[in-house]
Amino acid sequence: MSPAGDFSKALLRWYDAEKRDLPWRRNNDFYPVWISEIMLQQTRVEAVTPYFLRFMGLFPDVRALAAAEESTVLAAWSGLGYYSRARNLHRAAKAIAAGGEPSDFESIRALAGVGDYTAAAVASIALGDARAAVDGNVMRVISRLANDAADIRAGETRRRFAGQAARLVDRRRPGDFNQAMMELGATVCTPKAPDCGKCPVERFCGARAAGTAAQLPVKLGGKPAREVALDVAVLARDGRVFLVERAASERRLAGFRELPGKKDVKGARFRAAGEFTHQIVNDRFRVRVWVAGTPAGLPAGEWISPSELGDLPVTTTAKKALRIAGLL
Ligand code: SF4
Repeated sequence: MSPAGDFSKALLRWYDAEKRDLPWRRNNDFYPVWISEIMLQQTRVEAVTPYFLRFMGLFPDVRALAAAEESTVLAAWSGLGYYSRARNLHRAAKAIAAGGEPSDFESIRALAGVGDYTAAAVASIALGDARAAVDGNVMRVISRLANDAADIRAGETRRRFAGQAARLVDRRRPGDFNQAMMELGATVCTPKAPDCGKCPVERFCGARAAGTAAQLPVKLGGKPAREVALDVAVLARDGRVFLVERAASERRLAGFRELPGKKDVKGARFRAAGEFTHQIVNDRFRVRVWVAGTPAGLPAGEWISPSELGDLPVTTTAKKALRIAGLL
């Protein structure tokens, strides 16, 4: 057996025994695999699990998703972040309902919101396509296995690591292999504290032998987060809260309901209720929450009861602020 064969055998034996019982692993049909892979983009398994279960309950197949209103899909996604994923998912569901389920990597890759990684993951799991799915987790594992200190942000390094992953992928069980690599990166070969003593592929690992695991991968020149101060107003009347709708032209979260800015509420007496930080991509928002009585002037918006909030797309920032103000 080749070294790659020995490697995948050891990895898959561990995966078969230790893999987490996740709801999208219960069948390999295209629809649940695709939904889960879109949800898992930039989002942790623990956060995705309840959303996946609720989403599948609301939209059990691609036709149900295609037939839903966009606002219903966004409401089901509300709190998971990166909302362009939900809009693209909805667009892609309509395309699939009209033209049929994709049958190979290229047709999956052509769906809205699907990049190389997601297409490879879905094609390998749902269609058995022997293709490596290489995300940040897998890059980290490869950099350690190869004990390679090249900058992981460089295109040349990423191409080299992707080539190494492609040589390792198990041809008979590519979907399980890819999930095992991700599982290894998420649970054992973690960014800050790789647990090499529990690693099923320890004997293949260059960084383990060299004692360099904790220093890899090397990432150079990261952009620092931009700090953004935000003052939001929580206004309550007759058990309802006042929310405004983000304009359709907004780059992020268009159409979502959010709290008005403090500066847009005129003639109110404010008291500070608390503050929190919230990161969206490279912006770190420091949000101060202000509660006020009846103001003299309000921007365009509407009064909404807490029971209606679950049916509307509401920003995570607004939900956090309403919780701080004791209204959610
Ligand atoms: Fe990662 Fe350590 Fe396993 Fe190497 S031996 S793959 S560094 S957990």
